[in-house]
Amino acid sequence: MARERVDCVVVGAGVVGLACARALAQAGREVIVLEAEGAFGTVTSARNSEVIHAGIYYPTGSLRARLCVRGKALLYDYCAEHRVDHRRCGKLIVAQNGAEVTQLQVIEQRARANGVPDLQWLEADEAQALEPQLRCTRALLSPSTGIIDSHGLMLALLGDAQAAGAVLALRSPALRAAATQLGIELDVGGDGATALLADVVVNSAGHEAPVLAAATQGLAAQHVPPRYFAKGCYFTLSGRSPFSHLVYPAPGESSHLGVHLTLDLGGQAKFGPSFRWVDHLDHSIDEGEAVHFYDEVRRYWPGLRDGALQPGYAGVRPKIRGPGEPVQDFRIDGPSEHGVPGLVNLFGIESPGLTSSLAIAERVAALLAKPAH
Ligand SMILES: Cc1cc2nc3c(=O)[nH]c(=O)nc-3n(C[C@H](O)[C@H](O)[C@H](O)COP(=O)(O)OP(=O)(O)OC[C@H]3O[C@@H](n4cnc5c(N)ncnc54)[C@H](O)[C@@H]3O)c2cc1C
Repeated sequence: MARERVDCVVVGAGVVGLACARALAQAGREVIVLEAEGAFGTVTSARNSEVIHAGIYYPTGSLRARLCVRGKALLYDYCAEHRVDHRRCGKLIVAQNGAEVTQLQVIEQRARANGVPDLQWLEADEAQALEPQLRCTRALLSPSTGIIDSHGLMLALLGDAQAAGAVLALRSPALRAAATQLGIELDVGGDGATALLADVVVNSAGHEAPVLAAATQGLAAQHVPPRYFAKGCYFTLSGRSPFSHLVYPAPGESSHLGVHLTLDLGGQAKFGPSFRWVDHLDHSIDEGEAVHFYDEVRRYWPGLRDGALQPGYAGVRPKIRGPGEPVQDFRIDGPSEHGVPGLVNLFGIESPGLTSSLAIAERVAALLAKPAH
């Protein structure tokens, strides 16, 4: 089969792939987005908390910290300009005892170092004035945290990319790639099975990114991370939420943020995500976790009634470090990391990937910018 010559291929139409496609198309490049499924944004981008994170928790200087803070600013502007539904509702991080207050102090210092200087301390009565049903000894208010309609965001990103000439090919999985002197060869399966030769490939395949990287001839094995899956389940609250802010417990020693309360734009509350290592992509809900949810939520909301939680949905974090290993950062591997011209691999884009999507795209487009003449 003759190979069709194209400029840029973005593999994966989740929020990050769509943001990259938009950035590249708006930079004047010809872009094809390959998506394995029959619709865009059906995997991790459809199964998350839909929170616009402030950038509080991540290690200072990490990509997660920097791209979250930058991405948040870009995202609020983007939502306002493109009428993407969102709300800057703010979030409370709550402490139940002195040890947790100490954790909040560490969090506040880290937030400041990350470029999030607007956290405010609240005493118990001040927090309860905002949220009468909340129990805590002290709290930190993060005013720049918000919620977003992630599907609306992806629709707007796709619309921008298409308006700048990008094409979305659904049911078109990238099967393998090879780095050659002429460019990157890509074999595409599915409905429109074809063979492409691209100047640029952005591997934004989420959970599958390490698999495609491993199937890329010419990419040395040391540049392909292992993949792991960490499932998070959500339970929804029947009836209207008694809270108007997001509520997060102090995170403790764990690397995940605890069973928190988030809201959707319809005012419905959900709790989650939990954290459990699994050995494959598994979106089933572990209903047995409900008992543990009641215990965790009642620490900050004693009024939660028996039977009020309903199984919601599950999302799986695309991990590149396994149990017991240090917390991972985002990996944006460009030619200077792996030596393959025109290739960018995105690995471990878990939370705050939604918030960071426009900043990740900005960085990817900069890595692939054509030298000015
Ligand atoms: C439980 C949970 C909660 C989260 N909460 C938040 C939050 O509140 N705020 C936040 O900022 N972030 C959050 N995140 C992180 C955020 O959801 C992700 O970082 C983001 O959705 C990743 O987008 P993506 O485009 O990289 O991946 P995905 O959305 O998984 O997209 C990858 C796409 O690639 C496609 N694909 C795979 N293989 C191929 C192939 N070979 N060829 C073509 N296409 C392929 C898939 O079908 C998929 O559509 C959360 C994540 C989880 C799991």
